[in-house]
Amino acid sequence: MAMMAMTIRNSASRRTMMSRPIFGSRSMSSWWKNVEPAPKDPILGVTEAFLADPSPDKVNVGVGAYRDDNGKPVVLDCVREAERRIAGTSFMEYLPMGGSVKMVEETLKLAYGDNSQFIKDKRIAAVQSLSGTGACRLFADFQNRFCPASQIYIPVPTWSNHHNIWRDAQVPQKTYHYYHPETKGLDFKGLMDDVKNAPEGSFFLLHACAHNPTGVDPTEEQWREISQLFKAKKHFAFFDMAYQGFASGDPARDAKSIRIFLEDGQHIGISQSYAKNMGLYGQRVGCLSVLCEDEKQAVTVKSQLQQLARPMYSNPPLHGAQIVSTILGDPELKSLWLKEVKIMADRIIGMRTTLRDSLEKLGSPLSWEHVTKQIGMFCYSGLTPEQVDRLTSEYHIYMTRNGRISMAGVTTGNVGYLANVIHEVTKSS
Ligand code: PMP
Repeated sequence: MAMMAMTIRNSASRRTMMSRPIFGSRSMSSWWKNVEPAPKDPILGVTEAFLADPSPDKVNVGVGAYRDDNGKPVVLDCVREAERRIAGTSFMEYLPMGGSVKMVEETLKLAYGDNSQFIKDKRIAAVQSLSGTGACRLFADFQNRFCPASQIYIPVPTWSNHHNIWRDAQVPQKTYHYYHPETKGLDFKGLMDDVKNAPEGSFFLLHACAHNPTGVDPTEEQWREISQLFKAKKHFAFFDMAYQGFASGDPARDAKSIRIFLEDGQHIGISQSYAKNMGLYGQRVGCLSVLCEDEKQAVTVKSQLQQLARPMYSNPPLHGAQIVSTILGDPELKSLWLKEVKIMADRIIGMRTTLRDSLEKLGSPLSWEHVTKQIGMFCYSGLTPEQVDRLTSEYHIYMTRNGRISMAGVTTGNVGYLANVIHEVTKSS
């Protein structure tokens, strides 16, 4: 035992000596002198700038968090009721490494279907994750550990953090065509060509619904074609589903892409998040699942996912998981949740129509059809970085420079102003 401990310590210190510079002669204050400031996050930086602006006209359409028609953050009634029921609980122990079994069970039903045979056959390896980001990262680490020679194909454009996640997990990245700037819609041909030309057995990241940032999703028919091609090429589809319910207002409908792949018998992975559709942003509650060949493989894969989680955060947080399982485990609270998701999705759809109508009434020479054609939280407006800069500096509109408007920040009170100033910066283009 003592020998073993010694060996471990020796090899650890050898590794340390070989790979790290020796700072022995430096004063304490110089330890971090070579650390450069990290680049600002393109999304979170927008909120910082918004908060620093004293103008009463300022509008934040940068960050992807839902706001009500008064521009205020929302706590859903189903969440308030779940919290009331949880209050006073005497359970504050650690969750298991894989998180709340009940929460995971309910979450899988949302993605795979209430009566999914895969759930009945226990073929899904699933763990509670630190929201959608944590699920993506855990999967990326799993991919790196067990398919070390693999790459990940990521759509252009995508949520900027996808690049950070797979970079930090040391998985090389390739991109695939997704968005057509002229039609402001899907580049279906480009996508299919890239899927076809990728080496057999490649990993692809797909947005299950309400693509961020474009708001452009394939049609059901196109998903069927994509799935068939994936099957022929033996690719692995990893679905990031951060907005289930936000596209159509109906979570089951929004899982259609996933269900099509499942019908085709494909072994997929899924990241799920309750940040948006339950408004549990700060609770960091989500789920990573991997569909396996059989129960035995699912048990093995789950054990490895837990093994990855253990040295990172040991086990996931309790409170958000309790909220989710209380809501989804109670038919009344679940139906209240479904109503509230629809209210959020419908408000966004309504704002899309008003924004487009307002721009057309102002006599804009440009087409704004894409504003209502795109779905989910975001409108990929087609505004150039220079036009966005003008919107910010002259009119106090805060958004990412890629022209992404978070429709969740648009309200009855600011949509007229927003249309006016967008018209102002685009009328000569
Ligand atoms: N994937 C996509 C596409 C997203 O837009 C987001 C949130 N902006 C996430 C994952 C992760 O969100 P969270 O970690 O808050 O669940």
